[in-house]
Amino acid sequence: MSDGSNGNGNGNGNGSSNGNDNGSSNGGKRSLRQVSATDPVANLPAIEGFPASEKVYVEQDGLAVPVRRIHLSGGEPAFDVYDTSGPQGHDPHAGLPKLRAPWIEARLRDGDDGNRSQMHYARRGLITPEMRFVAIRERVEPTFVRDELAAGRAILPANIRHPESEPMIIGKNFLVKINANIGNSAVTSTIGEEVDKLRWAVKWGADTVMDLSTGKQIHETREWILRNSPVPIGTVPIYQCLEKVGGEPEKLTIDLFIETLIEQAEQGVDYFTIHAGVRLAYIPYTANRVTGIVSRGGSIMAKWCLSHHKENFLYTEFERICEVMKKYDVAFSLGDGLRPGSTADANDRAQLAELETLGELTDVAWKHDVQTMIEGPGHVPMHKIKENVELQQRLCKDAPFYTLGPLVTDIAPGYDHITSAIGAAMIGWFGTAMLCYVTPKEHLGLPNRDDVKDGVIAYKIAAHAADLAKGHPGARDRDDALSKARFEFRWEDQFHLSLDPDTAKDFHDETLPAPGAKGAHFCSMCGPKFCSMKITEEVRAIAERGLADKAAEFKQAGSTLYAGRDDHSH
Ligand code: SF4
Repeated sequence: MSDGSNGNGNGNGNGSSNGNDNGSSNGGKRSLRQVSATDPVANLPAIEGFPASEKVYVEQDGLAVPVRRIHLSGGEPAFDVYDTSGPQGHDPHAGLPKLRAPWIEARLRDGDDGNRSQMHYARRGLITPEMRFVAIRERVEPTFVRDELAAGRAILPANIRHPESEPMIIGKNFLVKINANIGNSAVTSTIGEEVDKLRWAVKWGADTVMDLSTGKQIHETREWILRNSPVPIGTVPIYQCLEKVGGEPEKLTIDLFIETLIEQAEQGVDYFTIHAGVRLAYIPYTANRVTGIVSRGGSIMAKWCLSHHKENFLYTEFERICEVMKKYDVAFSLGDGLRPGSTADANDRAQLAELETLGELTDVAWKHDVQTMIEGPGHVPMHKIKENVELQQRLCKDAPFYTLGPLVTDIAPGYDHITSAIGAAMIGWFGTAMLCYVTPKEHLGLPNRDDVKDGVIAYKIAAHAADLAKGHPGARDRDDALSKARFEFRWEDQFHLSLDPDTAKDFHDETLPAPGAKGAHFCSMCGPKFCSMKITEEVRAIAERGLADKAAEFKQAGSTLYAGRDDHSH
């Protein structure tokens, strides 16, 4: 591994909390090497790129926005896809280049009033470089991005201490986004494995990543993740608070919570899940549930409320929390601590009471111009999904909805990436802005690298299916390009245009590995005689020949319309 330099003359990782209060984006003093005593990323596996693809930057308006360009055969034009993988080839010790540092510094220099949120700028009519970057990525006008942010219908998570992030937007009028959860637990995983999962998740298309670490080295793990993340990072700060009080929820205090928020905000976390809607009065509503309270954060806050018999301090001190959020531009992801953990509990009184409170808190956050999205369930059967979105949109005034799944049935442990992707596609179609992935390990164990990929791919499918159903402009272009390649038996193009080219090619190779098979007009599924696409090709050729013959016959007969009859036309 080379030492420190990332080739842009800015080799230091933007170190951890440095206590300086000016909001500067590069005030960190410690490199990632200094953060860890040993080298946690010494043996990271290389992340291979996609076949027939290159990362190119679309230069527009003084900005360079990444896309993945897929090269096709047969004279077809290259196809560009949205790319979340971030700058490649950087030493993880050095972290990624700080793309946003000059933009942030310029804003802090010129007219900083202490509120650094993109919503605050948007409400003052300003269009930031982050908004312009997003506009190019989403192929919309920058004014549209600004107006959606100002209205609270979208968020652009972009902590001023995470200058490595490439701006992205979450809102129902943009492409549906997906989140991948990573993070170690007290039982398993290392920092290196988590950095590897981060790079792996963004390769496959995760738009944001949540670091849900709960074990030892929580701060250090987060530092490595943030410095190497091109996408916004979310956390659930109450987890670290709980570590700090030895795992005893009743010892939590608002001061400890605020201190932890500042620690994480200084590191660059872009959004915080905060379970401020778990009110004391709602906890009894969960008493007769099949699966009680299944959110970790929700159960921690419920225990605190009951042991003190007091209102949730995250609710009563919410404005103090807003002060931290706006200073760094950390977005709220208002947690659904009382979400249903089984289809039996879906849309019950506890869930909907909390949602109402989240609507009330959205107003408070917006009073401070703090960007806000709302978390949603969980486990919901298909016929109850639409109601979730309608209620959330009404109660939370169109603030972006961010849902976990939902799983539409409880009977398939080991396959919950599928049970939940079904619900995710539906809820995305109805207007959910971001879908939190579920992996095959859900309910069973900490996901490994393979599970992360399976979860991301399942959710890319769900999000894209939702974009198609919503009629999002241009969403069908990739489907059309792939279908055309499929129909023309351009096998390699079909693989290259797919979400997971490796698996598509491996499956084809399983029965037809010879290079010549990649030009064959059939595959092993139906075989050469029963290939319906080949037969269609032949049918079309016959039809075309038949039409040509008929035309020639017509000409030969003197090109008269009604041969052998008087022409009585008028
Ligand atoms: S053989 Fe069947 S599955 Fe394979 S390309 Fe032809 S129609 Fe499609």
